[in-house]
Amino acid sequence: MDVSKCVALALVVVVAGVFCSGSAQASDNGIAVDQSKYVNRAILPDFTATECPDNPRALTQVKGNLYRHTTGAGLAVHSGLVLITEEGALVIDPAMTCTAGWLRDEIRKRFNVGVRYVVYTHAHTDHISGAQVLQKDGAIVVANMRALEPIVGEKLPTAVPNRVFDEDMMIALGGETVLLHRVAPSHSDSMIMVLFPKYKALQCTDVCESKSMPYNDFLDFYYPGWIETLDWVAAQDIDFIDVGHYTPATKPDEAALRAYMVDLHQQVLDLVRSGQSWDQLYRNVRFSDEVKKWTAFDTMHTLNVMGMYRWVSNHRRGEW
Ligand SMILES: [Zn+2]
Repeated sequence: MDVSKCVALALVVVVAGVFCSGSAQASDNGIAVDQSKYVNRAILPDFTATECPDNPRALTQVKGNLYRHTTGAGLAVHSGLVLITEEGALVIDPAMTCTAGWLRDEIRKRFNVGVRYVVYTHAHTDHISGAQVLQKDGAIVVANMRALEPIVGEKLPTAVPNRVFDEDMMIALGGETVLLHRVAPSHSDSMIMVLFPKYKALQCTDVCESKSMPYNDFLDFYYPGWIETLDWVAAQDIDFIDVGHYTPATKPDEAALRAYMVDLHQQVLDLVRSGQSWDQLYRNVRFSDEVKKWTAFDTMHTLNVMGMYRWVSNHRRGEW
């Protein structure tokens, strides 16, 4: 690592010195989790574990050492960025146990390295299943500290993280830098953004969209933090966003999503304040022609209204 990079890193974290000594050597500033506490924890059956030879899967190059893995077909596709370095790979959200072994083997076959890090975007099982396969082979699993409770408490059949962090974490791997950042509760309170500065690329799972509707009734939803997160995304120097599903997105896509969310919130708030019941209200929300063209509009738009109606109803206090 050259001196200018050390200086740049020093501006980001006080402990940057650990990344600057000697040649490239994997390191991070996460907080170790005592795994012995969870050895015999109860877990639910893994709904992604059944062999799935026909399930689509892929690992495709984004740019340079940055790749994107996908698993699942059509609208069910889950994705995450993958960084390949000489010190090993970093994989975001393996997503399915039945394809995690394939991803490990594919990385080994094509690049002759193992998986060194697995990063969870948030503690939802449809994104973090399969990490136990990679952890067993020695990968360090990383998540926000708030992901630990739901993983253990909900008995999720995936790996308990080896390292966690509060607001920011940095991983140095094979001369590359990966920045993990918690913005605000948005889609879960354990949601993080994963930034690959060299590639102007961001992992923004489930909070960002790709000309697609947010899922169902905004599961595990925090409205103000969602908007705060999209504002943070808008401020980043990035041109590639993986949204954890569908196809990759760009900053204008997230600006359009922000406009949709703000408009939906305001419409629902106005209708509730005008005294409309749910049965009246959901028929009176209007969508732009642009939003009507988004992926899954037909199946998701009424559910989106319902999620926003719940949020608004839970967060207002009128004359009572
Ligand atoms: Zn989710």
